[in-house]
Amino acid sequence: MAFVLASNNTGKLKEFERLFSTLGLEVLPQAQFGVEDADETGLSFIENALIKARHASEQTNRPAMADDSGIVVPALNGAPGIYSARYSGKGDAANNTKLLQALDGVEGAGRSAFYVAVIALVKHPNDPMPIIAEGRWHGRIAETPAGNGGFGYDPLFIPEGFDITAAEMTRDEKQSLSHRAIALNALAPQLTDFL
Ligand code: IMP
Repeated sequence: MAFVLASNNTGKLKEFERLFSTLGLEVLPQAQFGVEDADETGLSFIENALIKARHASEQTNRPAMADDSGIVVPALNGAPGIYSARYSGKGDAANNTKLLQALDGVEGAGRSAFYVAVIALVKHPNDPMPIIAEGRWHGRIAETPAGNGGFGYDPLFIPEGFDITAAEMTRDEKQSLSHRAIALNALAPQLTDFL
Protein backbone atom coordinates (compact mmCIF):
# COMPACT_ATOMS: atom_id res chain seq x y z
CA MET A 1 0.00 0.00 0.00
CA ALA A 2 1.25 3.51 -0.80
CA PHE A 3 0.39 6.87 0.79
CA VAL A 4 0.80 10.21 -0.92
CA LEU A 5 2.55 12.78 1.26
CA ALA A 6 1.10 16.28 0.84
CA SER A 7 4.51 17.94 1.08
CA ASN A 8 7.54 18.22 -1.14
CA ASN A 9 9.95 18.74 1.74
CA THR A 10 12.64 16.03 1.43
CA GLY A 11 13.45 16.12 5.16
CA LYS A 12 9.82 15.34 6.03
CA LEU A 13 9.63 12.69 3.32
CA LYS A 14 12.62 10.88 4.87
CA GLU A 15 11.13 11.00 8.39
CA PHE A 16 7.83 9.55 7.15
CA GLU A 17 9.57 6.93 5.01
CA ARG A 18 11.54 5.71 8.04
CA LEU A 19 8.36 4.94 10.02
CA PHE A 20 6.27 3.69 7.11
CA SER A 21 8.90 1.32 5.71
CA THR A 22 8.89 -0.61 9.00
CA LEU A 23 5.18 -1.28 8.33
CA GLY A 24 5.78 -2.23 4.70
CA LEU A 25 4.18 0.96 3.41
CA GLU A 26 5.41 3.27 0.69
CA VAL A 27 5.38 7.08 0.85
CA LEU A 28 5.17 9.04 -2.40
CA PRO A 29 5.62 12.84 -2.58
CA GLN A 30 2.64 14.69 -4.07
CA ALA A 31 4.89 16.37 -6.66
CA GLN A 32 5.23 12.95 -8.31
CA PHE A 33 1.54 13.27 -9.23
CA GLY A 34 1.70 16.95 -10.14
CA VAL A 35 -0.37 17.95 -7.08
CA GLU A 36 -0.05 21.62 -6.18
CA ASP A 37 -0.20 22.91 -2.61
CA ALA A 38 -3.71 23.27 -1.18
CA ASP A 39 -4.88 26.60 0.28
CA GLU A 40 -4.46 26.38 4.05
CA THR A 41 -7.73 28.05 4.98
CA GLY A 42 -8.28 26.38 8.38
CA LEU A 43 -7.91 28.05 11.76
CA SER A 44 -6.13 25.17 13.48
CA PHE A 45 -3.23 22.82 12.76
CA ILE A 46 -5.69 19.91 12.59
CA GLU A 47 -7.93 21.62 10.04
CA ASN A 48 -5.00 22.54 7.82
CA ALA A 49 -3.42 19.08 8.00
CA LEU A 50 -6.79 17.56 6.99
CA ILE A 51 -7.32 20.06 4.16
CA LYS A 52 -3.90 19.17 2.74
CA ALA A 53 -4.38 15.39 3.13
CA ARG A 54 -7.89 15.43 1.56
CA HIS A 55 -6.65 17.61 -1.31
CA ALA A 56 -3.75 15.24 -2.12
CA SER A 57 -6.06 12.21 -1.87
CA GLU A 58 -8.65 13.81 -4.13
CA GLN A 59 -6.08 14.74 -6.76
CA THR A 60 -4.37 11.33 -6.80
CA ASN A 61 -7.17 8.91 -5.98
CA ARG A 62 -4.96 7.40 -3.29
CA PRO A 63 -4.70 7.38 0.50
CA ALA A 64 -2.84 10.51 1.59
CA MET A 65 -1.33 12.20 4.60
CA ALA A 66 -0.15 15.66 5.53
CA ASP A 67 1.42 17.39 8.45
CA ASP A 68 1.04 20.91 9.72
CA SER A 69 3.37 22.43 12.27
CA GLY A 70 4.35 25.65 13.97
CA ILE A 71 5.20 27.30 17.26
CA VAL A 72 2.61 28.36 19.83
CA VAL A 73 3.18 31.00 22.53
CA PRO A 74 0.25 30.86 24.98
CA ALA A 75 1.03 34.39 26.31
CA LEU A 76 0.45 35.68 22.75
CA ASN A 77 -2.93 33.93 22.42
CA GLY A 78 -1.23 31.10 20.54
CA ALA A 79 0.62 33.24 17.97
CA PRO A 80 2.52 32.68 15.72
CA GLY A 81 0.50 29.39 15.62
CA ILE A 82 -0.75 28.28 12.22
CA TYR A 83 0.77 31.46 10.78
CA SER A 84 4.31 30.49 11.91
CA ALA A 85 5.77 30.35 8.39
CA ARG A 86 4.16 33.64 7.35
CA TYR A 87 4.25 35.50 10.72
CA SER A 88 6.24 38.51 9.45
CA GLY A 89 5.70 37.85 5.75
CA LYS A 90 9.47 38.26 5.32
CA GLY A 91 11.04 34.90 6.17
CA ASP A 92 12.69 33.19 9.14
CA ALA A 93 14.99 35.97 10.41
CA ALA A 94 12.19 38.56 10.37
CA ASN A 95 9.81 36.05 12.00
CA ASN A 96 12.27 35.66 14.88
CA THR A 97 12.69 39.42 15.24
CA LYS A 98 8.92 39.89 15.30
CA LEU A 99 8.51 37.21 17.98
CA LEU A 100 11.24 38.78 20.14
CA GLN A 101 9.52 42.16 19.82
CA ALA A 102 6.13 40.67 20.72
CA LEU A 103 7.68 39.28 23.93
CA ASP A 104 9.67 42.41 24.77
CA GLY A 105 9.51 42.90 28.55
CA VAL A 106 7.84 39.51 29.10
CA GLU A 107 9.64 37.31 31.63
CA GLY A 108 9.42 33.85 33.19
CA ALA A 109 6.35 31.73 32.39
CA GLY A 110 5.21 34.35 29.86
CA ARG A 111 8.00 33.13 27.58
CA SER A 112 6.72 29.52 27.59
CA ALA A 113 6.19 28.09 24.13
CA PHE A 114 5.75 24.79 22.35
CA TYR A 115 6.28 23.47 18.90
CA VAL A 116 3.36 21.44 17.60
CA ALA A 117 3.07 18.98 14.73
CA VAL A 118 -0.20 17.41 13.60
CA ILE A 119 -0.27 14.55 11.11
CA ALA A 120 -3.51 13.66 9.31
CA LEU A 121 -4.12 10.53 7.24
CA VAL A 122 -7.12 9.78 5.04
CA LYS A 123 -7.96 6.62 3.13
CA HIS A 124 -9.95 8.58 0.55
CA PRO A 125 -10.89 12.27 0.02
CA ASN A 126 -14.14 12.08 2.02
CA ASP A 127 -12.90 9.71 4.71
CA PRO A 128 -15.07 10.36 7.83
CA MET A 129 -12.54 8.57 10.08
CA PRO A 130 -9.14 10.13 9.44
CA ILE A 131 -6.20 9.37 11.72
CA ILE A 132 -4.89 12.39 13.60
CA ALA A 133 -1.64 12.28 15.55
CA GLU A 134 -0.21 15.20 17.50
CA GLY A 135 3.18 15.96 19.02
CA ARG A 136 4.17 18.86 21.27
CA TRP A 137 7.70 19.88 22.21
CA HIS A 138 7.68 22.22 25.19
CA GLY A 139 10.18 24.93 25.97
CA ARG A 140 10.60 28.69 26.15
CA ILE A 141 11.59 31.62 23.96
CA ALA A 142 15.15 32.89 24.53
CA GLU A 143 15.93 36.59 25.01
CA THR A 144 18.36 36.49 22.07
CA PRO A 145 18.87 34.08 19.16
CA ALA A 146 21.65 31.46 19.37
CA GLY A 147 22.92 28.67 17.08
CA ASN A 148 23.09 28.01 13.35
CA GLY A 149 21.43 24.59 13.04
CA GLY A 150 17.81 23.73 12.31
CA PHE A 151 15.50 26.26 10.71
CA GLY A 152 12.60 28.57 11.50
CA TYR A 153 12.31 29.50 15.18
CA ASP A 154 15.05 27.10 16.34
CA PRO A 155 17.55 29.87 17.30
CA LEU A 156 14.94 31.17 19.79
CA PHE A 157 13.54 27.89 21.13
CA ILE A 158 15.10 26.48 24.33
CA PRO A 159 13.59 23.02 24.93
CA GLU A 160 12.54 22.06 28.45
CA GLY A 161 15.45 20.42 30.30
CA PHE A 162 18.08 22.23 28.20
CA ASP A 163 19.91 25.53 28.35
CA ILE A 164 20.73 25.62 24.65
CA THR A 165 18.44 26.41 21.74
CA ALA A 166 17.21 23.85 19.22
CA ALA A 167 19.53 25.53 16.70
CA GLU A 168 22.50 24.60 18.93
CA MET A 169 21.57 20.90 19.02
CA THR A 170 22.92 18.32 16.62
CA ARG A 171 20.54 17.32 13.86
CA ASP A 172 20.13 13.83 15.30
CA GLU A 173 19.45 15.15 18.79
CA LYS A 174 16.77 17.55 17.55
CA GLN A 175 15.20 14.93 15.29
CA SER A 176 14.89 12.42 18.12
CA LEU A 177 13.23 14.92 20.50
CA SER A 178 11.13 17.10 18.21
CA HIS A 179 7.37 17.58 17.91
CA ARG A 180 7.50 15.69 14.60
CA ALA A 181 9.21 12.70 16.26
CA ILE A 182 6.57 12.73 19.03
CA ALA A 183 3.73 12.91 16.47
CA LEU A 184 5.24 10.10 14.40
CA ASN A 185 5.54 7.92 17.51
CA ALA A 186 1.89 8.63 18.32
CA LEU A 187 0.93 7.76 14.74
CA ALA A 188 2.57 4.33 14.64
CA PRO A 189 0.08 2.35 16.81
CA GLN A 190 -2.93 4.07 15.20
CA LEU A 191 -1.63 3.20 11.77
CA THR A 192 -1.65 -0.50 12.51
CA ASP A 193 -5.40 -0.27 13.35
CA PHE A 194 -6.12 1.95 10.36
CA LEU A 195 -4.81 -0.54 7.78
P1 IMP B 1 5.26 23.68 7.93
O1 IMP B 1 4.39 22.79 8.73
O2 IMP B 1 6.39 22.95 7.27
O3 IMP B 1 4.48 24.57 7.02
O4 IMP B 1 6.00 24.63 8.98
C1 IMP B 1 5.38 25.76 9.50
C2 IMP B 1 6.36 26.71 10.13
O5 IMP B 1 6.46 26.41 11.52
C3 IMP B 1 7.79 26.67 9.61
O6 IMP B 1 7.96 27.48 8.49
C4 IMP B 1 8.53 27.23 10.83
O7 IMP B 1 8.42 28.63 10.87
C5 IMP B 1 7.75 26.65 11.99
N1 IMP B 1 8.33 25.36 12.40
C6 IMP B 1 7.74 24.15 12.34
N2 IMP B 1 8.56 23.18 12.80
C7 IMP B 1 9.70 23.81 13.16
C8 IMP B 1 10.94 23.34 13.69
O8 IMP B 1 11.19 22.15 13.93
N3 IMP B 1 11.87 24.31 13.91
C9 IMP B 1 11.66 25.61 13.66
N4 IMP B 1 10.54 26.10 13.15
C10 IMP B 1 9.55 25.20 12.91
